[in-house]
Amino acid sequence: MIHEILPVGPLQCNCSVIGDEQTREAMVIDPGDDVEKVLDLVRKHDLKVRQIVITHAHIDHVGGAMKLRKATGAPVLLNQHDYALLKMLDVQAVWLGMAPPEKVEIDQHLGQADTVKAGSLVAQVLHTPGHTEGSICLYLPAESMLIAGDTLFAGSIGRTDLPGGSFEKIIHSLHDRVLALPDETLVVPGHGPLTKIGEERECNPFLVKR
Ligand SMILES: [Zn+2]
Repeated sequence: MIHEILPVGPLQCNCSVIGDEQTREAMVIDPGDDVEKVLDLVRKHDLKVRQIVITHAHIDHVGGAMKLRKATGAPVLLNQHDYALLKMLDVQAVWLGMAPPEKVEIDQHLGQADTVKAGSLVAQVLHTPGHTEGSICLYLPAESMLIAGDTLFAGSIGRTDLPGGSFEKIIHSLHDRVLALPDETLVVPGHGPLTKIGEERECNPFLVKR
């Protein structure tokens, strides 16, 4: 597997480029900004982007989706419970003092237990509401890796004080779906350093046993 993690934009959202070494097919997750740099990585590995997956509709994760779609022709995928948030991108831009991005169009809805494929790569969708209602994580069982969006961070969890957030729901999502994964699963959070499920199960102050 080819995997590049590029922190993009002023909030340094971790954008992942994941590619199949044989077929060179790839998925890009959370192209929030800096699409030219994302495309540099795509070209560096000679990849064909087949899927653009958005873990949730916050501007720092979705802001560059249309530019990337135009450049690659790949569809943009998002959980439908974040469509309302997607319509508020100009409001979100004001919160963060950023320029409002162009309107983002969604090509395909992603729900619980759906799969996203690129070549031999298979990612399972975990619907993990809490940070936003439509937040998802992507689990790649063969690679033992979780792309966690803003649901889980090393030593912390996603904030739930923004519109659509729910502390009860994120805790439920984490215990029922994320902590159900094996300890050795590598976690790529939406921001900051990587971690492992086992480490978060042991040490994350928000995940101590109920
Ligand atoms: Zn977020």
